[in-house]
Amino acid sequence: MRLVRGGTRWASLAAMFDLLYDRTHNVLLTRLSGSYCLDDIVVRDRQVTRFFERAGPAHRIADLTGITSVDVPLETIVGRFGSALKLPDLSTHLVASGEPGFSLARVITAHQYFSRRREMPIVPDMDAACRALGVSSLDLQPVEIAPALARESDALRFVARVEEANRREDLKLDELARSVLRGKFDTAFGEEEGGRSTGAITVADLLNGELPMRIDDGDLAVGCPGCGVGTTLAHCRTTVHRDTTYDCPSCGETLVRVRPLPDIGAATGYPVGGFDIDNAVDIACLGVILAARR
Ligand SMILES: [Zn+2]
Repeated sequence: MRLVRGGTRWASLAAMFDLLYDRTHNVLLTRLSGSYCLDDIVVRDRQVTRFFERAGPAHRIADLTGITSVDVPLETIVGRFGSALKLPDLSTHLVASGEPGFSLARVITAHQYFSRRREMPIVPDMDAACRALGVSSLDLQPVEIAPALARESDALRFVARVEEANRREDLKLDELARSVLRGKFDTAFGEEEGGRSTGAITVADLLNGELPMRIDDGDLAVGCPGCGVGTTLAHCRTTVHRDTTYDCPSCGETLVRVRPLPDIGAATGYPVGGFDIDNAVDIACLGVILAARR
């Protein structure tokens, strides 16, 4: 499952959203279409947060009219709005008329009211949203997303899809699945983490900062382009200096490099949790792929 990125429009097989801004009236619009799923929620919330960090608070309109289905459980939606979404917006209007957008909007507004005593009006169309804000029309331009922040979104989308995959019964990341995966690679390369330096930050540590469950490096599969061997990050040889590198257990080629990242804008790989994950190869977890950076 590779991620497709074009401008500020985020596209996967099912869902997408646009982020647009009217500078004159200081209005930020998020427009969702297709299937409403966890990775859209997570990525959109982070991009809106990053926007407010750069530009300061704005009026916000969330247009839900293009949503055709809701693919995330209600309790997950409510959980996200309870913990993550405390945005410094000046006001938020939800645009929804038909189903399932209207029911989704009702859930969101009810939750916001009961948890934060915060009014989040639902209006039937964009004209009504403009009237509510006292503007005659909006001049909306796509929000430019810096390349490093776009890769942060890619990493968040990867993590959200791992969370989704884990929630499905047939893909449960349980002890059985782990033991099968590990047994296979332990046979080929010996017990994992034998030569692992202690205290090194791992790729799994960084991803866990964004996940409700826990994974470790043994859950992250990679293939070496040099010798063709398949393995997990737990079986790679690691060296820790300023960077942590994961090297192929068979030929020694560096597959993944992790380095501290004081400034997110300087990331050349995927910025996650204050570190830069620079992977020369795809990293796979539960069938979800974080595409190679080089
Ligand atoms: Zn190799």
